[in-house]
Amino acid sequence: MSDLVPTIGLEVHCQLSTQTKMFCGCPIVQGASPNSAVCPVCLGHPGALPVVNDEAVRLGVRAGMAVGCTVNDNSIFARKHYFYPDLPKGYQISQFDRPLCSDGVLHVLLDGERRRFEIERIHLEEDAGKLIHDGERSLIDWNRGGTPLIEIVGRPDIRSAEEAEAWLRMMHRVMTHAKVTSGDMEQGHFRCDANVSVGPENGPLGTRVEIKNLNSFRFVARAIRHEIARQKKILSGGGRVIQSTRSWSASQSVELRSKEDAADYRYFPDPDLGPIPILDADRSDAESILDAVPLDVWLLDQDMARMDGFQDQYGLSTADSAALLGSPSLCVLFEQAVELGGESAAMANWVRGPVARWVNENEQTESQLSAQHLVELESMIGAGSLSRSNGRALVSELCEQGGNVAAIVSERGLTKLDDAGEIESKVAEVLDAHADELARYRNGQKGLFGFFMGVVMREFQGRADPGVVRAVLQRALDRGPDDA
Ligand SMILES: [Zn+2]
Repeated sequence: MSDLVPTIGLEVHCQLSTQTKMFCGCPIVQGASPNSAVCPVCLGHPGALPVVNDEAVRLGVRAGMAVGCTVNDNSIFARKHYFYPDLPKGYQISQFDRPLCSDGVLHVLLDGERRRFEIERIHLEEDAGKLIHDGERSLIDWNRGGTPLIEIVGRPDIRSAEEAEAWLRMMHRVMTHAKVTSGDMEQGHFRCDANVSVGPENGPLGTRVEIKNLNSFRFVARAIRHEIARQKKILSGGGRVIQSTRSWSASQSVELRSKEDAADYRYFPDPDLGPIPILDADRSDAESILDAVPLDVWLLDQDMARMDGFQDQYGLSTADSAALLGSPSLCVLFEQAVELGGESAAMANWVRGPVARWVNENEQTESQLSAQHLVELESMIGAGSLSRSNGRALVSELCEQGGNVAAIVSERGLTKLDDAGEIESKVAEVLDAHADELARYRNGQKGLFGFFMGVVMREFQGRADPGVVRAVLQRALDRGPDDA
């Protein structure tokens, strides 16, 4: 059997930054009391007529132009039928065969290289309400019902979880830069569905599985990696992947339902809404707000120039520069640290290592850590008063709370130990406490060295220099019982 390869396509639901809903005048509110921002139109009362929100159309046009789409005159709305309690009309107003925008491209920088992915379409639609399950009951809040969204549908030309994550990050950057959306992922203003299939290389595509509502960059990569592995396991065991929709939570995916096809939704043009005219004003608005069209190319050109600068000016490697470019705030932090006198390779290591890790793990862009902190950490390590591992361990605390590096180090008792006497007495203590292991070591079980090393290092909580501990320990162990 030839190698199995994954094919991935992403779809993003992106809440448009409008004041009011897609087809009525209800305000877009957050945290308002449930069912307070509703009216006959968004509740789907019989006879209520929708009216298109011009601002939503304008933002949709801007989104399309930002990623090089063709903006289609006279696109139409269609009803997508399905039953769910959060959808009072029994259908969602969306677009089907004539979307607002089609055929765009998204360029992504990955490992210092430009990669190109195709966008099939961007269409307008309304969001559904929200179901809240509190254990015994299910409650409905229709405030979100009718909120304007665009759905951005990428073609299935993504080949790995890493590419998918980079795609999503770039799409988020483009849409927030274009002020199409707030991009708040925690609030669900930018959420992603991933279609994953695994099949033989150069062969027909495998069966598609959709993972719904991924609302963090990290989850997207993890969920895709997990799904690829799941499908490969099924296929290589001779099984068959079933077309389905799954959700991702707590590091595993759960099947929600077997997947519907478009035909199941009985799409048809919404008779209450005519074709959407695209005005000159919509196009000129996009041109005036966007720095350039397409925006992704403009952003990447800037990145490349910055990357060249990192390499020429600071002598950074391609890998270091590419890693920094992943985040504008990390670039700024690095530049400031170097300006404050930090050595560039060392500062790049801090920023792309523990700082980037904290930012990624916490999905944060705001951190309390300053460039000054990094310069101080490095200089304390250079002066021998702080171990590198303890310095790195302080980064997440500094990111969360800021503070004074020297004060934290002394409060925590993290000042590095250079007193050989203290290390010698701790080693003697540890050998006393582990007489059995000591006897076995001296009877030739030399592999126990690592065990003693581990115990002593733990006792010092990383404050002791491993080189010194190793030397003292070796001496003590090899001294023999008679020399003690
Ligand atoms: Zn309404």
